[in-house]
Amino acid sequence: MQAFDVVIIGAGHNGLVCAAYLLKAGYSVLLLEKRSVPGGAATTEEAMPEEAPGFKFNLCAIDHEFIHLGPVVEELELAKYGLEYLYCDPTVFCPHPDGKYFLAHRSVEQTCTGIARYSPRDAQKYAEFIDFWQRLLRSIIPVFNAPPKSIIDIIGNYDLQRLRDLFSVLGAPDKTLDLVRTLLTSAEDSLNEYFDAEFLKAPLARLASELGAPPSQKTLAIGAIMMAMRHKSGYGQATRGYRGVSKSVAQPGAEPGW
Ligand SMILES: Cc1cc2nc3c(=O)[nH]c(=O)nc-3n(C[C@H](O)[C@H](O)[C@H](O)COP(=O)(O)OP(=O)(O)OC[C@H]3O[C@@H](n4cnc5c(N)ncnc54)[C@H](O)[C@@H]3O)c2cc1C
Repeated sequence: MQAFDVVIIGAGHNGLVCAAYLLKAGYSVLLLEKRSVPGGAATTEEAMPEEAPGFKFNLCAIDHEFIHLGPVVEELELAKYGLEYLYCDPTVFCPHPDGKYFLAHRSVEQTCTGIARYSPRDAQKYAEFIDFWQRLLRSIIPVFNAPPKSIIDIIGNYDLQRLRDLFSVLGAPDKTLDLVRTLLTSAEDSLNEYFDAEFLKAPLARLASELGAPPSQKTLAIGAIMMAMRHKSGYGQATRGYRGVSKSVAQPGAEPGW
């Protein structure tokens, strides 16, 4: 019987990435998947073969954001195995029943120009809102990209710019208390504090709820990073669908044709 250093159950993208890093580190890995297709919730499949033969759908995940905050794409050389991104711009369009609409571009300035047509005050507040969440996001990325609890690795991930970002949201008691208060509040309360216009608050609340809770959920104002990421780190769609990610991680070991 063949022995393995590690057995992973489930070839969703987390299982795939974990297996790829373990293999890179020289461990032998057995990755077990109950479906015939790896990828878990990150697949693109012909879901309606009778009604729409040849058409492939992302069954769950569609947008790629968090992957751009870490080194996975580069470290696993996913482009070499077929991963290719298209970066959307505009990134969000949300028409409102009163005829106004929110149209977000990758550029914050361009987005603010659009908001200013309806509300100059909200346009100014939008720039402040995105700047705050982007600074917070940049200051916590070093924690994402280090092994859990590894203080030395976490500290090592902070360069000067990230330290500046960190101390811009955390430092003096009033700043720290404000951050704590913001993090404890809900996306809905936070949006109501920043903005007046419904056409702007509605799509931002919808995006914040992508963290898996309603916008009224206390302690989840951080859902605002879903909009902040659409401006900065990149909001990509893989050509050939979400399967592009799973397939590129699974290659070159994957069976051909899955
Ligand atoms: C509707 C929906 C939309 C989403 N949209 C996005 C999005 O746009 N962007 C984004 O970044 N994220 C999105 N997500 C979240 C993202 O898809 C998941 O966080 C991610 O796929 C989780 O990956 P995973 O590897 O942890 O688990 P999964 O993808 O759930 O993979 C688990 C795998 O384990 C297998 N498995 C389970 N039990 C066994 C067993 N006993 N034996 C063998 N195999 C087993 C399953 O078949 C599956 O392949 C969305 C999720 C959903 C549900």
